[in-house]
Amino acid sequence: MSVPISQMWTVATYILKQKLAGRKRYPLVLMLEPLFRCNLACAGCGKIQYPAHILKRNLSPEECFRAVDECGAPVVTIPGGEPLMHPQIREIVEGLVARKKYVYLCTNALLLEEKLDQFTPSKYLTFSVHLDGQREEHDFAVCREGGYDIAVRAIRAALKRGFRVTTNTTLFDGADPNSVRAFFDEMMELGVEGMMLSPGYSYEKAPDQHHFLGRARTRRLFRAILSNRKRHWKFNLSPLFMEFLMGKRHYRCTPWGMPTYNIFGWQKPCYLLQDGYADTFEELMAETEWSRYGTESGNPKCANCMVHSGYEASAVNDTFGSLRGLLATAKATFSRYRDPEAAEMLRERVVPAHARNPFVQIEVSSGSVAEGTRV
Ligand code: SF4
Repeated sequence: MSVPISQMWTVATYILKQKLAGRKRYPLVLMLEPLFRCNLACAGCGKIQYPAHILKRNLSPEECFRAVDECGAPVVTIPGGEPLMHPQIREIVEGLVARKKYVYLCTNALLLEEKLDQFTPSKYLTFSVHLDGQREEHDFAVCREGGYDIAVRAIRAALKRGFRVTTNTTLFDGADPNSVRAFFDEMMELGVEGMMLSPGYSYEKAPDQHHFLGRARTRRLFRAILSNRKRHWKFNLSPLFMEFLMGKRHYRCTPWGMPTYNIFGWQKPCYLLQDGYADTFEELMAETEWSRYGTESGNPKCANCMVHSGYEASAVNDTFGSLRGLLATAKATFSRYRDPEAAEMLRERVVPAHARNPFVQIEVSSGSVAEGTRV
């Protein structure tokens, strides 16, 4: 089991309370982006393409706390940008832990080892380290040679000090299922608590537009990776969301399940799209035209989306929506998904992305992101 019982209990009781109160739409995880600045410039990222004056801005701790209190979600993830570049990240994390929020600080870990002293181990704090696969795959994905080794060293140091550590991995077209499975083995050997996975979203602003996955290819890739599962792999994901990725379930997107707050306000409708901003969480929930989003809406921006931030809350809601959902989750938790066809897929030759595309390192200086793309 990859999540402590106390966290599961907090989330389960929160959801049951929402259901008993008859709330049709409720937030499960707040995505709190205190800055867009980053010390990497990944080719598949749509978050760091802002002009320098935007990249320099930070949310203050008070703004973060107000958003967290307004929203009320039991879990807060802190993506970015790179949160460890925020000058008051320690204060922000301390304030959230004091509020008994389960905090996932998402980091590329380049600064993690040197900043560990700023934090205190707690069941409420997890470092969610961005690793997009084995050494070559990760370094290629983040356009930074040596990034994998730095992150792994930081994970070891954090685990040694008693911190909770998970990984988060985004997969793009051309990912090699065998390499991803080998990566799972590496992470389990390292001792991380669990692994989070998501297909990449095709950000319009991302420098690399050629490697985003369509829905059919996403399902095929995840079926190959997650079938015939090894017993020791632990995931920090809803088991039903993983079935969704493997094409075994259909869900509608519930973007309100993981709302986003950043320097512009509450982002409509989700972490990925920017169709305006609301000043308050209440306004976001009341005034967003939710029917315009999700695959069924016909919105082309949602057509290929199967990302974690849109669909995991749908899966969790399904788990707690009925006895059938609970039983399906229990079954999925222990299933290894024996699938001879998926095993066959692992025999297909895949030329890894880093072998197909020459590696171009994108240099990033503090406060600004250099233009760059792969050739
Ligand atoms: S389908 Fe994806 S892009 Fe569309 S609203 Fe949901 S999470 Fe956002």
